[in-house]
Amino acid sequence: MGISGREIPSAEQLYETILGRQSRPLPGLEEVTDLRARNRAARIHCYLAERASRLDEECLECGRKARKGHTRSVFATPWDEDETDKYFCSEEHADEYLYTPPYAYFHCDPCGRMICEQNPKNGWHLQYRDTDDARICLACYQDRLLAEGLEFERGKLEKGQIPGMYFSWGNPEPKQAGYTEVPGFEDFYVNSEQKRERFIGEVLARLDSGEKVIACYESLAIGGSEGYATMMVKNEPGGDEE
Ligand SMILES: [Zn+2]
Ligand SMILES: [Zn+2]
Repeated sequence: MGISGREIPSAEQLYETILGRQSRPLPGLEEVTDLRARNRAARIHCYLAERASRLDEECLECGRKARKGHTRSVFATPWDEDETDKYFCSEEHADEYLYTPPYAYFHCDPCGRMICEQNPKNGWHLQYRDTDDARICLACYQDRLLAEGLEFERGKLEKGQIPGMYFSWGNPEPKQAGYTEVPGFEDFYVNSEQKRERFIGEVLARLDSGEKVIACYESLAIGGSEGYATMMVKNEPGGDEE
């Protein structure tokens, strides 16, 4: 019918059309006729609007026709360049689908994106970190970590955790940002309380002296229960240099 894609007539326009097609009402029936025409126009308008709002996609939550205005653009991983459109029949179904596991999404404030918490495309890794201020995506966490070092994660360090993240193999991202390995802490095997304390103690000492230090997971459970991590540092003699 070609209704989609162009404006549907307003109830007022439909009313005028209906009146124009009618023969003049009998004396005394003007009001009733007018009311009927208005009701009919309103019904037709609702029907057309409803039809025009249907999409050729199915609602991910219920399988019925998805509707315009309820499409959400989300990111499967923080590293995706393009967002994916998810189609829904209503806001309710969009929220139900997007905020429940296994494909729960969260809003990352710094980058303003809706990102999947865990995704098979990324090996089901947690794709966010909870910092003191907010839950942020791994891409934003990486940016902040490289820019500031672990200073903002001091609370976790003091609780005995090793906050950090996996970079690409060989840690090219921190290297590009000017970080170098701390001698003695490359591929450091954290397998005991003492080793953990040594690693954390070194990080805190360097933070205290104003250095930017980060922990790169080589194979380490989040929070650092056991595994390998590499400590890297960025020395900026004479303050900020870019
Ligand atoms: Zn639905
Ligand atoms: Zn983000």
